[in-house]
Amino acid sequence: MTVLSGPSGVGKSTVVAEIRQAHPEVWLSVSVTTRKPRPGEQDGLHYFFVDGEEFERLVESDELLEWAEFAGNRYGTPRRPVLERLAAGVPTLLEIDLEGARQVRRTMPEALLVFLAPPTWEELEKRLRGRGTEPEEIIERRLAAGRVEMAAEPEFDLTLVNTTVQDVCHRLISLMTDPHGVMTSTNREV
Ligand code: 5GP
Repeated sequence: MTVLSGPSGVGKSTVVAEIRQAHPEVWLSVSVTTRKPRPGEQDGLHYFFVDGEEFERLVESDELLEWAEFAGNRYGTPRRPVLERLAAGVPTLLEIDLEGARQVRRTMPEALLVFLAPPTWEELEKRLRGRGTEPEEIIERRLAAGRVEMAAEPEFDLTLVNTTVQDVCHRLISLMTDPHGVMTSTNREV
C-alpha cells in the first residue's frame, strides 16, 4: 500500500486525477468526508459525502483506517475496501493529509509513505497565496501552516518533487510496482 501526502496546495489531487485517468490498474481509495461536494465531484468516485452523524458512526464502529479533521471538515479512509484490495494483491493508493499519514505509519508500518514536495518553497507560496483575493491574515495563516507541513518531510519514506504531473505519476507508478528499485537509489527523487 502506498500513501501520497504532502503540504496542502502542492498538487496531490491533480496527481490523483491523472492516475485515475491513466492508470486503472491502481486502485484509489475513496474517502468519506463531511465536506460538501464541489462542482463536478461525484459521490462514490471522488468521495463518499456523508453528514457529521454518519461520520461519527463510522468512527465509533471502527470502520475507518484513519481519519482527520482538515479545514473544518472531517475526512477518513474506509478500512474494509483497503484490506480487501490488499488481500487481492491490487496496488492501492491513499491520498490523505499529513495527520492521516501519521496514523497509517502507526497502524500499518509496512505501508510506503510518499511525500509530494513543491519544486521550491516559492512555488508553494505562490499556490497558497492563490489569486491574491483573500485577506493578508488568511494568507499568513496558510503560509504558516505550509511551513509546518513542509517540516514533516523527514517522517516519510520517500519524497517526490512535483515537477510535472506526468512525471510524478510515472515515478509513483514505478515505485508502486517496484519499490525497491526506487528506494535503493536515493530517498529523494528529483
Ligand atoms: P479536499 O477537501 O481539498 O478534497 O481535501 C482536503 C485535504 O484532505 C487534502 O489534504 C486531502 O489529502 C485530505 N484527505 C482527503 N481524504 C482524506 C482521508 O481519507 N483521510 C485524511 N486524513 N485526509 C484526507
